[in-house]
This record gives sequence, C-alpha cells and structure tokens, in this order.
Amino acid sequence: MTAPEPRYEPARALALWGEEEIAAAVEVLRSRSLFRYYGPDLRHRVDAFEAEFSAVTGVPHTVGVSSGTAALTAAMVGLGIPEGAEVIVPAVTFIGSVNAVVQARGIPVFAEVDDSLTLDPERLDELVTERTWGIMPVHLANAAADMRPIAEVARRHGLRVVEDAAQAAGVHYGGRPVGGLGDAGAFSFQLEKNLTAGEGGAVTVGDPAVYDRVARFQDQGGQFTTGRGGDRGASAEAPFLGANLRMTELTGAVLSVQLRRLGPMLERLRNIARHVRRETADLPVRWRRLPDEAGSGGDLTLLLASRLEARQFVAALTAEGIPAHTMYQGQAVYANRAVREGRTPWGVAWDRPARCRASEGLIGRSVTVGLGATMTDGDVDALVAAFRKAYEGLAPAAG
Ligand SMILES: *Cc1c(COP(=O)(O)O)cnc(C)c1O
Repeated sequence: MTAPEPRYEPARALALWGEEEIAAAVEVLRSRSLFRYYGPDLRHRVDAFEAEFSAVTGVPHTVGVSSGTAALTAAMVGLGIPEGAEVIVPAVTFIGSVNAVVQARGIPVFAEVDDSLTLDPERLDELVTERTWGIMPVHLANAAADMRPIAEVARRHGLRVVEDAAQAAGVHYGGRPVGGLGDAGAFSFQLEKNLTAGEGGAVTVGDPAVYDRVARFQDQGGQFTTGRGGDRGASAEAPFLGANLRMTELTGAVLSVQLRRLGPMLERLRNIARHVRRETADLPVRWRRLPDEAGSGGDLTLLLASRLEARQFVAALTAEGIPAHTMYQGQAVYANRAVREGRTPWGVAWDRPARCRASEGLIGRSVTVGLGATMTDGDVDALVAAFRKAYEGLAPAAG
C-alpha cells in the first residue's frame, strides 16, 4: 500500500522558516563569533534570546543550553538533586525525560497518565517514598499537564517540580505560561518543537541562586559565566564542577527569529483544532482531555476504542493525505529495554519493573492528527472531510 504524500507539512515553526532565520545566521557567521562568551565581534545573540524568552515565559531567568535533555538535567542539578534520589516521570513521554534524570544521577519512577495523557494527579501519592525528590510533569503535545493538583501533591510531600516543557513553548495553564509553574522549566528547540534551530534547549528558573547553579553547570562549572574567561571561575562563591552544555550564537540568533513567530502560530493552530472539533461535534469522538484548552497550542489527539481501531484510523487518514500517528508507537517509555532494565552508563541503577496499565492502554489507542503552521483553509477542510470519512469507516464498535 502506498500512501499519498501528505497534503501539508506537519511542522510548527520549522514550516515558517524563512529569510529572517537565514539573515540572522549569516550575521553571526560574518562576525566569526559563534562562541557565546567572547569573540572578535561578539553579537550576544544567546544573551538576547535568553532575555526574550524570559519575556515570553514571564520567568525571570533563562539559560540557553544545547538541548532539551541538557535543560532538564541542568534544571535538576541547579535545584540540587541528591545522588540516587527518585524523580516521578509520566509513563508517557519521550525518552529524553528519563535520560535527563539518569544524567542528573537520579532514579526515574514511572507514574500513570490519565485521559489527558499527562500525569494523573490522583496516582502520585502512592509513588512517594522517603527517597522521592521531585516530580517531572510533561506538557505533552502542546497541552499543559494539570499543574494545580500536581503542585498540591508536591507541596504536601515537600517535592520539587521540574516541568518538561520540551513540547510546549508558548503554552499556558491557568493564564500563566508553562516553564514558570514549577521550581524550574525545561524547553527543547530540536527539529520537531514549537521553535527550532535543529538543536537547542533552555532552562527557565525564578530563584537567582538556582539560576546561578544552572548557569555554572552548563559552563564547565562557571569557567566563563562567572569570570568571562578572565579569572576562570575564581569569583564563584561555592564552586563545583560541571559540563559543557552551552548554546552557540548561531542557535541563539535563529531562535530569536523563531520566537517572534510563536504567538501567532500557536493561535492559528489552536483555532484550527477548535474548528475541527466543532465541525465533528456530531460524531462521538473522544478527544484527549486538555486540562486547559484555552492555553493549549493546538492539538488534535483522540482516544479510539482499541489499538486496532487506532491503527485503522491512522491508516485511513494517511490514505487521504492527512498526517496522523500514534504517539511513541503506542508504547510507554519503559517499553525501551534499557529503561525497563535500568541500564545506565554506570551500570544497572534500578530493577523495579514499571507497570502503568492505564497509561499503556491509553497511549496504545491514541491518535494524533498532525497540524502544520502553513496549513491553508483548504487543507483544514480536507482534514475535516478525511476525519469524518475515517471515523465513519470504523467498525460499529466505535465510540
Ligand atoms: C524533545 C523532548 C525532550 C528532549 O529534547 P532534546 O532537545 O531532543 O534533547 C525531552 N522531553 C520531551 C517530552 C521531548 O519531547
């Protein structure tokens, strides 16, 4: 079976990539100053991006880093995670969430998601032990996790909250941008995210002491952040060794351009998603629940009756040129053998088998209909028509 080419590119800010990104990159290349802390003609593009990103998230401090995984790691290190501490991670997420916990020398503990496909606040208490240090809610596919009850559980047990906002730059919850709802937030600027430079990430943090630790950690313990290359970190109050997770000037320059596209892009995608839901309101579609629809960044994920139906639905949409997929091949993150068996670069770190049955069921029968930032009204109409046809073509057990 050969599916037709998709009608539109199911990409976000990457689909809007244009001459401005190219000009911004060329300016940095001409300056010969791609290192963020010094150079013959430094343009301070990472500094500028950090300030602009803080303005968008409303969080006082942003630290640009090399990836979303690096951002999560740096956030946990900045918050002082002790070695061997447990971090509660949803069963449905990208493996980067798990890798970051391991890199921060923590132990991931997997928690159930609910019909929002984000952390089920009702199933957190049962996982808390004396080794639990933090909770990592994941704002999956442009919709925030239900942060209010999650924060309440964290408060009750004295836990840290590190938001994995890799898939949710510009998304809001309760009127506030994600990244500022927990103790720290982490964003990714990899190819598929809301803004992209191919790679990149950012930590958002309010507490200046935590900011200082994050900034040092991503820069070899503060080689250049604290001394600007002069006294090589000698001014540090409480020095510690770190890593090199630095963002380059090229990345900062491109991201500043992409950031200007973010707000209007998310509004357009949210409106498309709303339109599709309205146009299919007569069908018994079970959309995933969005804890804050008004703050979401445009997502069309639904839950079918079974794995088989989900597969049929994806095939039917794809046959009409509408991009669709089941997230993470319909599997919990611990389906990965290394995760399941606790194999880290330093040996086996856990052997408690994870089992989140509700999450396994939900992710397996989910379908995400791809939206694209350059979709035309004609593409949206075609999506609605294909959606109706695919839904009505399901076995009568549907809904
Ligand atoms: C993309 C992603 C990450 C990792 O980001 P990278 O920039 O690829 O390292 C982490 N968590 C989630 C939920 C993601 O989608």
